[in-house]
Amino acid sequence: MNKTSEIVIIGGGVIGTSIAYNLSKKGKKVILVEKGDLAFGASGSCDQEIILQSKSPGVHLQMAMRSAEIYKTLEDELNHPIEYKNTGGMIIIETEEEMKTMEGIVEKQKKFGFNVEILDRNEAAKLQGGLAEHLQGSTYSPQDAHINSMELTIGYANAAKKLGAEVILNTEVTGIKQENRKITGVQTSDGDIDSEIVINCAGAWAPAIAQMAGINIPIQPRRGQIIITEEVPPYVMGDILSARYIAAKYNPDILKNSNDPGIKLGVGLALSQMEKGNIMIGATREFVGYDTSVTREGIKEILKYATRLVPGIRDLNIIRVFAGLRPYTPDGLPVIGFMENVEGFFMAAGHEGDGIALAPVTGEIVSDLIIDGKTFIDDSVFDIKRFN
Ligand SMILES: Cc1cc2nc3c(=O)[nH]c(=O)nc-3n(C[C@H](O)[C@H](O)[C@H](O)COP(=O)(O)OP(=O)(O)OC[C@H]3O[C@@H](n4cnc5c(N)ncnc54)[C@H](O)[C@@H]3O)c2cc1C
Repeated sequence: MNKTSEIVIIGGGVIGTSIAYNLSKKGKKVILVEKGDLAFGASGSCDQEIILQSKSPGVHLQMAMRSAEIYKTLEDELNHPIEYKNTGGMIIIETEEEMKTMEGIVEKQKKFGFNVEILDRNEAAKLQGGLAEHLQGSTYSPQDAHINSMELTIGYANAAKKLGAEVILNTEVTGIKQENRKITGVQTSDGDIDSEIVINCAGAWAPAIAQMAGINIPIQPRRGQIIITEEVPPYVMGDILSARYIAAKYNPDILKNSNDPGIKLGVGLALSQMEKGNIMIGATREFVGYDTSVTREGIKEILKYATRLVPGIRDLNIIRVFAGLRPYTPDGLPVIGFMENVEGFFMAAGHEGDGIALAPVTGEIVSDLIIDGKTFIDDSVFDIKRFN
């Protein structure tokens, strides 16, 4: 295979396919290269939550709110069943200390124009049955939703193909070609593709691709283990997180210093019900390199914590467990933009636990930046130089 394209995208997850679709929609000739199948990485081994409440007020929440707008009509736009449901969601609060923290976050989010409120335990129990008696309450937002991330990835890829994009699967990018610090294409396990622009959408594997261009990026794989139950009648109200999930996400150092095995593993509750009735119970947040094994300790700690908060799920049978790798950055925001030292090399990775929620807006931002050189959001926050 020897091909030429205006733009090469590396990685067939939600981010790469959303970008492929958005660039194709704007008339660019795109080739996407994926080493396995579509959704082979985190996008095929994650939860399904488009939860806005877990985003910090500021650019993170602004991105999530824009994505939520796009999601409302995306199924029709892609002409593919992506199982989008605007269910609403809650973050359940166990302790007084968590309540104080969540009250502060909710206050700031409201000022940002986000529709969210604090509920006491009785109000929370009206929305979700089976909650533990000792809970303090929860937050609630009607704006949260969920989606099937694999269908989303396939939907984006198919829609991009209809607009002229080429999607090449089972083909690994093995090198980045450049002359005088200027991109000239990629080498793959099946030949070269010439191109002046290469976009690195390889998620947790993005550092290895960046290394091929001589660039260091501070993305690390952060493992999440998830449990799937048997199919049951409607039980979970929408998307449920726990306040400890928020702490585990943003404060890895606090977790390191704890003696509690669940906290050490970064266990926070993420609970939602899939289209067919299976309940997803997540998840851990662990730095264990590229190991995607499921561990007995991880599953035990998730179940211990989940049944402490929602004892109602105790009797369900588990049918499956798996683990995926979130692309973690130290400040929770992705790295997006052209790299200074290698002309034509563009980064779009590092969405940690938010890539499903932020895929539509990321596609929009990246296509704006590549085609127009500007976008609707202050993109300096995505600059890799912030980590210096
Ligand atoms: C347990 C868990 C739960 C999560 N829950 C949620 C959630 O509820 N809501 C949410 O918004 N987000 C969630 N996330 C996060 C979300 O899954 C990720 O942020 C998102 O999937 C990242 O997408 P991506 O396209 O950047 O990366 P990936 O989906 O990992 O895609 C990268 C792709 O690059 C390919 N690749 C790598 N190297 C090469 C190469 N050399 N050549 C070609 N291809 C290559 C890989 O095979 C892979 O398919 C969760 C993640 C995990 C692990």
